[in-house]
Amino acid sequence: MGNGLDDLRAALHRIDGRGYKAYRDVRGRWERPDLVLCIDRVQGDPFAAPSKLRLRVPQEAAELPARLFSNPVRRTALADFLTRRAARAVRGGQRRGSGKSGLVEVDAGGQRRGSGKSGLVEVDAGGQQVLERTACVITDAWVELRVQAGLPAAGRRVLGREAEELLCDELPELAAAALCWERLPQEEAARFVDCIENQEHLRSQLDGRGLVAFVADGALLPRQSGASDRPLAPDEAVLFEAPEALRVELSLLHPVEGPNGPRDRLRGLGVPRGVTLVVGGGYHGKSTLLRALESAVYPHVPGDGREWVVSAPGLAKIRAEDGRRVEQVDISAFVSDLPQGRSTARFSSDDASGSTSQAANIVEAIEAGATGLLLDEDTSATNFMVRDARMQALVAKEHEPITPFLERVREIHDHLGISTVLVMGGCGDYFEVADTVIAMRAFRPEDATREARAIADASPSERRNEALVPFEAVTQRVPEASSFDPSRGRRDVKIAAKARDLVLFGTDAIDLRCVEQLVDLSQTRAVGHAVHLAATRFVDGEATLREVVDRLEAFFDAQGLDALDPHHRDEHHPGDFARPRGLEIAAAINRLRTLRMRQKPRQATEKHEARDDGVPAK
Ligand code: ADP
Ligand code: MG
Repeated sequence: MGNGLDDLRAALHRIDGRGYKAYRDVRGRWERPDLVLCIDRVQGDPFAAPSKLRLRVPQEAAELPARLFSNPVRRTALADFLTRRAARAVRGGQRRGSGKSGLVEVDAGGQRRGSGKSGLVEVDAGGQQVLERTACVITDAWVELRVQAGLPAAGRRVLGREAEELLCDELPELAAAALCWERLPQEEAARFVDCIENQEHLRSQLDGRGLVAFVADGALLPRQSGASDRPLAPDEAVLFEAPEALRVELSLLHPVEGPNGPRDRLRGLGVPRGVTLVVGGGYHGKSTLLRALESAVYPHVPGDGREWVVSAPGLAKIRAEDGRRVEQVDISAFVSDLPQGRSTARFSSDDASGSTSQAANIVEAIEAGATGLLLDEDTSATNFMVRDARMQALVAKEHEPITPFLERVREIHDHLGISTVLVMGGCGDYFEVADTVIAMRAFRPEDATREARAIADASPSERRNEALVPFEAVTQRVPEASSFDPSRGRRDVKIAAKARDLVLFGTDAIDLRCVEQLVDLSQTRAVGHAVHLAATRFVDGEATLREVVDRLEAFFDAQGLDALDPHHRDEHHPGDFARPRGLEIAAAINRLRTLRMRQKPRQATEKHEARDDGVPAK
């Protein structure tokens, strides 16, 4: 098409008062020199999901400085920043007449005009984490914001004048306010981009320093509440301070302002590879530290409090998850000889127990390429974690199928090269297997490694090692293509993210409540579509789940996330995906109730290969 924006005005006048379907006439591309407005998908009626639009501003008009998107990390960061500006401007539109503050006047949120979603504008901005997302795309030639908007209606009739205001005045103003450099808070934008790149720079140093995570001095870890990921007010929080024995210093790429002027290095706690125990009394901040490490596989926005906390990218949170489905997982390292002679080398269940689900979660995470495990006693099955000397005396090994994690955690590191950080306030038997012990005392970490070792030496646990066979590798599995079915009713593909933790996939509901490192609804949405993309492109009856997920990740690296949209063709695409890790995509596949897998025979010589730091310790 390629008509002018004025032609759009005329078209909207023409359809004013007609049935809602007439909006289809304005689909397509409308231009003026400083803006292209693409109306990609028009909603069927005022109450349906809002229409999808793109606002593209050429770089000659936007003038975003090239140094702010000179590599993929900086590009993602800048796009994230612009998306947040746009979302804020949309929300700010509710405050009418705030022109001077730089906010645009867009009707949004509760302030609709007309029926259904009339006048509603949505931009998919992130929360505390900064993720690769599709809401904003920056190229050398243009910058594009993807929005969803409810086209105005009275009843089911087109409100042409209101539509004109929305499409021809307000959305262009939104594009200018959120995408054009002269309208942006320039220093804040540059600091945001530098901050995200700094975090990736810190992360890149972990491996070389033999660390799995870093928590800078001064970090603010506690959150407002279990329901809010925002930081606790600084005057209510104890800021993090590393114990001297575990303190490391990492370099920054861009100096940051400190209390004594600019700094180009940060000091803080280095969590070493190996087995790390976090101990301490109840309510002393153990779980809060672990949750910060879980989230720190992603960068955080400046001001989050965790922006100088970074984890190795392959850390996987593991927990018990009774009731989950398990398909053909070899959990024999942890569970053997179930009642009724059920095999645990090929364990399947529609309703796994606390301990078998936790065993499956570990084996699956390792299979999918995790480089480290994070466990919290709060969310673990007790009988999976420990079996003490007294219990060994009372219940003979022949009557206890479980080999507890305690007996495997060293092998998981020494043979498989996978580190563990474990919160355990309740059982000192772990002192014997830990390389590092961090004690939390009133929210302050102390190094308790020597003390714990001395205690273990002075009073041995008397526990016998009951592991019968060594744990040296996990068995890879091959998913069957026919077991993925996204169809529902007359629709060939029906996939919807209902919440952060729930995806509808065809007639199946994938329960992601215990997949705790999914942090954003748009990531969950991407996971749902990624499962389908994997099934149609990479699952071939030969590829292992690990290979499928690796190919998917390579595909996203090359193509971006736009290809996830089932309606994707040429210039049609969604603006509401955020990138998940391969581990979470694998976790979703593993939780499909229809999934069928077959185990790949293990070669005798096969050694486990972890994704990044797979160098087993001597
Ligand atoms: P634990 O796991 O040791 O029982 P939690 O990590 O659950 O303890 O923390 C207990 C409470 O203390 C939580 O409400 C948490 O938000 C709060 N908290 C944790 N760390 C801090 C801190 N550094 N400063 C202030 N409050 C904190
Ligand atoms: Mg706790």
